[in-house]
Amino acid sequence: MKGLCVLGSTGSIGVNTLDVVARHRDRFRVVALTANNNVDRLVEQCVEHQPQCAVAVHPTQAAKVRAGLKARGLKRTEVLSGPQALELVASLPEVDQVMAAIVGAAGLMPTLAAARAGKRILLANKEALVMSGPLFMAEVRRAHAQLLPIDSEHNAIFQCMPSNYRAGIRAAEVRKILLTASGGPFLSTPIEQLDLVTPTQAVAHPNWVMGRKISVDSATMMNKGLEVIEACLLFDVVPDDVSVVVHRQSVIHSLVDYVDGSVLAQLGNPDMRVPIAHALAWPDRFESGAEPLDLLQVKSLEFDRPDDRRFPCLGLAYGAVREGQTMPAVLNAANEEAVSSFLDGRIRFTSIADTIRFCMDTVAASVVTSIECVLEADRRAREVARRHIADIACG
Ligand code: NAD
Ligand code: MG
Repeated sequence: MKGLCVLGSTGSIGVNTLDVVARHRDRFRVVALTANNNVDRLVEQCVEHQPQCAVAVHPTQAAKVRAGLKARGLKRTEVLSGPQALELVASLPEVDQVMAAIVGAAGLMPTLAAARAGKRILLANKEALVMSGPLFMAEVRRAHAQLLPIDSEHNAIFQCMPSNYRAGIRAAEVRKILLTASGGPFLSTPIEQLDLVTPTQAVAHPNWVMGRKISVDSATMMNKGLEVIEACLLFDVVPDDVSVVVHRQSVIHSLVDYVDGSVLAQLGNPDMRVPIAHALAWPDRFESGAEPLDLLQVKSLEFDRPDDRRFPCLGLAYGAVREGQTMPAVLNAANEEAVSSFLDGRIRFTSIADTIRFCMDTVAASVVTSIECVLEADRRAREVARRHIADIACG
């Protein structure tokens, strides 16, 4: 029995994780579940999985969870609150595996706590890795933690890489990593109409059902940009080793191109339970609940080059990872602020890229010697982004 902590259990990845876990109750003991606001769902999840701890970040929400559990007669679960409680449950000795599925920078410190405690981390929270980059990877190595990618592209690459890839991709005879991108909901929208698209249109992804923030990131292709940075860190490669190819059907989840001309790919239906089950069971395999892939139904697979004019965020992310130091943290913070303002109807869709570019031009990159440097860059970039957003906000 493996002890499991699910950070962000009420979100899209969290719910899919518990769905897979419920199919294999003989292999997992749910130790901790955490959420931000969704009290009702957290209570339901506690009733079903009987964890030792539950965390609701805000004390008022935690009080509601306590009351909800009392009403359901559940005495086993201790309810905690506050950001430190997230770090505490991610490093409990009873926990073997941590599903890092909080969205955005809020996931950084708890995911880092899991790394420092030497856990097996199932990493969905790409923003945490993008922000803290080499520092995070150094903590993983120092504490002998394990990092298994949940992002479907990185999970695909992990499955297609040779076992000796940590010695460097050249030694492993890998020529290139190819990340596939669906292109999101606006792949064929006339570029001059992108100014007018609404949050509802932006979160309606054609192939995947996901949280709102990552759905907007998919529409701008910042999601792919963050994934390029994520790939550089996870597989120890430089940005020129990673190419992005648009593949509308989301059936091929990514590819590894070898020097002998072989290209290995991982295919499957677009269902996050596939990479989640892969990482939960690794190095074994077990059922995920996903429908088997029917190639006769898929019929054809298409590929295109991403259009830089339509998707400027992709180029911004390549720029940030090439610059290094705190620039990926600046990019991430500016993007989080811009996406949240777009979702609130304060700025236009196209202002997301403009806001990020403004922040990257305004906030200089600095050396990362500690996590405080990352947090300071995040804070500074948010301040600049908020001021810029206030200047350009509609209405
Ligand atoms: P979501 O919005 O559906 O869920 C986010 C979870 O984080 C919720 O449980 C929420 O309560 C919690 N949370 C939000 N803000 C918090 C805060 N300030 N403090 C503590 N907890 C907080 O998001 P999601 O789609 O499940 O995505 C989660 C992460 O996984 C993101 O980093 C995303 O990029 C990554 N990811 C998601 C998918 C997907 O298919 N949804 C695929 C690949 C990667
Ligand atoms: Mg992905």
